[in-house]
Amino acid sequence: MPQQIKQRIHELKELLQNYNYAYYVLDNPSVPDETYDRLYRELEQLEQDYPHYLTLDSPTQKVGGQVLESFTKVQHDSPMLSLGNAFSYEELQEFDKRMKELCQEDIRYTCELKIDGLAVSLKYQDGILVQGATRGDGITGEDITHNIKTISSIPLRLQTPLTLEARGECFMPKQAFLDLNGQREEQGEAVFANPRNAAAGSLRQLDSKIAASRQLDMFLYAGQMDNVTSQVELLNALKQAGLKTNQETKLCQNIDEVWNFIEDMMQKRSNLAYDIDGVVVKVNDFNQRERIGFTNKAPKWAIAYKFPAEEATTVVLDIEWTLGRTGVVTPTAIMEPVFIAGSTVQRASLHNVDLILEKDIRIGDTVIIHKAGDIIPEVKLVDLNKRPTDSQPYSIPTHCPECHSHLVHLQDEVALRCINPHCSAQIRASLAHFVSRQAMNITGLGDKVSAKLFDAQLVQDVADLYTLTYDDLIGLDKIKDKSANKLLESIHASKKNSLERLLFGLGIRHVGVKQASELAKHFEQLEHLVSATQEELAKIEGVGVVVAESIQNYFDLPEVKRLLDKLKQAQVNFTYLGLSKENLDQKQTVFSGKTIVLTGKLEYLNRDQAIEYITNLGGKVTNSVSSKTDLVIAGEQAGSKLEKAQRLNIDIWDEAKLKEILEQNNM
Ligand code: NAD
Repeated sequence: MPQQIKQRIHELKELLQNYNYAYYVLDNPSVPDETYDRLYRELEQLEQDYPHYLTLDSPTQKVGGQVLESFTKVQHDSPMLSLGNAFSYEELQEFDKRMKELCQEDIRYTCELKIDGLAVSLKYQDGILVQGATRGDGITGEDITHNIKTISSIPLRLQTPLTLEARGECFMPKQAFLDLNGQREEQGEAVFANPRNAAAGSLRQLDSKIAASRQLDMFLYAGQMDNVTSQVELLNALKQAGLKTNQETKLCQNIDEVWNFIEDMMQKRSNLAYDIDGVVVKVNDFNQRERIGFTNKAPKWAIAYKFPAEEATTVVLDIEWTLGRTGVVTPTAIMEPVFIAGSTVQRASLHNVDLILEKDIRIGDTVIIHKAGDIIPEVKLVDLNKRPTDSQPYSIPTHCPECHSHLVHLQDEVALRCINPHCSAQIRASLAHFVSRQAMNITGLGDKVSAKLFDAQLVQDVADLYTLTYDDLIGLDKIKDKSANKLLESIHASKKNSLERLLFGLGIRHVGVKQASELAKHFEQLEHLVSATQEELAKIEGVGVVVAESIQNYFDLPEVKRLLDKLKQAQVNFTYLGLSKENLDQKQTVFSGKTIVLTGKLEYLNRDQAIEYITNLGGKVTNSVSSKTDLVIAGEQAGSKLEKAQRLNIDIWDEAKLKEILEQNNM
């Protein structure tokens, strides 16, 4: 028996060390957190029952992972610790009991959301941000100051010239995570497993342009500050200093109130803009904390209540392959419908071939699914115990589902690609991208109409859209007079779009909305961009070497030259219509330097357009109304933001006034 115990402890240590390496060093977990937590608890229990087998190198004795050699190391002033875990109401009650025994008095708790990101330390000297560091192994972290400085919610200068260290959670909001994975999938790159890994992978980059393009954010929850005696006071002081704290925080009088907060947050979880994996419960009073103390791994005065993973079991019925505009062929699992985290799910992207092979997903397999970032259904793992005995490994397709040409697996890519430039599905997909809202914003051209145009050989590339006539459209099956005219109007109007829309719409690899906007602002004319050198391109914010190379390769293609000629002939605008960076500084508009909030429903403009115009006129559009807001533009049915603006005496405009100003500026 002892031999078996020793063997199991050894096995668990090895497993957890490997999982730690994948999670903390590679930012790419090899098993779900619940599996990790279960094995961790098993090891902890065995070490407790057989203390003579406990060694200092056990994963239960260490915080985090190892520090990457490529970063300058930072010694933390005080250790950045982990947190103890609770998984049930009973475990929370035990925690409460321990706290009361240690303090011998009533205890109040602060409840904070456990943001699924990574712990980061910020150092300010006389109010100036001087260092940002990862937790690392708790004692030594990695210097990531260059990346931290790209995060817009982290002030480079505090409101007052304080010298302090503040700690908190750096994270990637759900939408940014979904966008990033979408882009990566389209570009044949591996996707991130969850927002935490995406945030960690972004911060642990040597090139700060990558972090800058990833829309990271941070909430602060710890720090050394004078005259502060409790967590509630600390959070207020951090906020006063200009640091961002999470609003969903509550001071609870007892553990039952804590439980109510947890239950409440479990309900609200899927509506939050960021992913959380639990609630952190902390003793509020710092005097009490001092009496309670620490273990070598975590404070004893706090505990993380971890939410149960929302999972469901279903069966894979088929794997469907679809082709994107860059030629990447993406697999989707078609499953028996199952209800999970608020909706019925029957499809889940499998992202790429490597993932199918790695997880060995087969048709007929019983799989456990969850929602990544709380939104997107994903196959977590295959339940091998339920695999049918006659099951065969899935055979990966060798030919394009559309044009049947041979698929290739390019070096350094996880994706399968169709590289036939005349493949009809690719052309249709690039058409859909070109007309999409953030690109040329042509309405009335859904999948069905574009497929008909393609089949009738009226549109072979995006420039052909501009030669379409009323007769062409009306001749197509089921297209009525009104929709034909509307579509033609929309196509015509798109000719006047500012350059960044065209650039994004062309679908150049690695050129997203942000890059397109920076490129347009910088070069102002398409021809200047086309003739730019790679060095010039790489210097532009958010571009870098890889994007620069991709842009040059794109404009070097003879078919692209032909396409641009056709667009020019069709009088599509090749000029940036917003204000350039220099002009923005010089020309004053009503929006210059102002912080503006849009609320309610706009009738004439869509929200994206309004934001684009205001930004082009030097304004900054933010989401929430505060004392820093200069102007609120309220459309129909505006609610709480409008009320708050009225309370704070902030200038309020209606949409008509916005339209008037835009017209004055020829927009
Ligand atoms: P933890 O994530 O359980 O808790 C500590 C961390 O919580 C802190 O370091 C901080 O980053 C974070 N946090 C978020 N909001 C906070 C708040 N308001 N106040 C304080 N802290 C807050 O502990 P850990 O040591 O960072 O990681 C261990 C966990 O990571 C495991 O329980 C497991 O779920 C996961 N993990 C998974 C794998 C895997 O292979 N899947 C491997 C290693 C670790």
